[in-house]
Amino acid sequence: MKTAIPMLSPGTGISRYLFPIILAGTFLVAALLLLVNLHLGAVTLVLVNGVLLLVSLALLIIVHGGGWSLITSLVYLSAVVINILATLITPGIQPGAASSLALIPVLAYILLEIQWAFPFTFASLAAAVLMYFLGAQAAHYRLNPRYAAHALVPALMLFLVCHLYSLRHSSSVNHILDRTLRDPLTGLWNREKLANVFSREKERALQDGTPLSLILIDLDHFKSVNDRYGHDAGDGALAFVAQTLINRLRTIDLATRVGGEEFAVLLPGTPGDIARRIAEDLRRNLEKDPYYYQGHAIQLTLSAGVCEFGADGTSWEKLYRTADTRLYSSKSAGRNRTLGG
Ligand code: GH3
Ligand code: MG
Ligand code: MG
Repeated sequence: MKTAIPMLSPGTGISRYLFPIILAGTFLVAALLLLVNLHLGAVTLVLVNGVLLLVSLALLIIVHGGGWSLITSLVYLSAVVINILATLITPGIQPGAASSLALIPVLAYILLEIQWAFPFTFASLAAAVLMYFLGAQAAHYRLNPRYAAHALVPALMLFLVCHLYSLRHSSSVNHILDRTLRDPLTGLWNREKLANVFSREKERALQDGTPLSLILIDLDHFKSVNDRYGHDAGDGALAFVAQTLINRLRTIDLATRVGGEEFAVLLPGTPGDIARRIAEDLRRNLEKDPYYYQGHAIQLTLSAGVCEFGADGTSWEKLYRTADTRLYSSKSAGRNRTLGG
């Protein structure tokens, strides 16, 4: 069995390299701000700059070689947001300080996955807008609509742009991931997907005793289909078999093509005896309707082996081997039959 492939998500790959660079940059900026604010005597800002300086240094050491994690990103982003909020509320701060608000969506969407970046940015920008207007007591120009628009609209626009970009990015990643897990000829899932779903369903079965079954299928004398009608007919027949499987199965069942003319069906929530009945239905359905190719009716049949998680083993290897042994017993018993369950 292959190892489960990790979930792809926006930011996972690039931020491994980006995060140390961003942290080092932040460390330098925080040091600079700290010196400037020390010179100006802005005690609160010196303190929050100091926090940002220490946080970026600590995270730089922590993530050195260790890559990105949700916690490190959230700690870093919180330190940045606290600096921005403190700057906005400080009396006498330069008008241009509000432009730092635009950093919030950009950094959040680079470092967090979309489901975290959205609430984080929303809450931070809401707090920042509040601070902006609270700070208006000391800086009246902030209430001027034109100035307020200049200060706040870019951050809100960037929030929208980052969110839309992330949505598009994650949908194309999911699309690519989906293609890598499907068999192009039949459109069924492949072995890799089967192994992934099995790992997930195995956990569920172990935790709450949900039944789980596996059917292995091999088409009978399939070589003769290619020999008599050609390879294109064989390909069409495989797609026809895949459709026969899909027609009978539920959406939560996983129909996969695991080899040339071999299929595996994982049935979550299904005990062995029911799985055997389903395997029989599949066998009968395939036997009932021939596959038509260029006016020829091609009779297809299948042999299957069925096993149940728990009763027949709990490891993938053991279950697969058991189902495979039963499948080959079906073959030796004359083909076009199912065994096990
Ligand atoms: P058995 O009943 O013992 O399983 O006999 P069989 O002929 O099905 O088994 P065998 O393993 O001898 O042959 C399998 C054949 O499946 C060989 C190959 O021509 C065919 N096959 C495998 N993959 C494909 C494919 O992608 N397209 C087509 N057209 N044929 C395929
Ligand atoms: Mg075979
Ligand atoms: Mg075969």
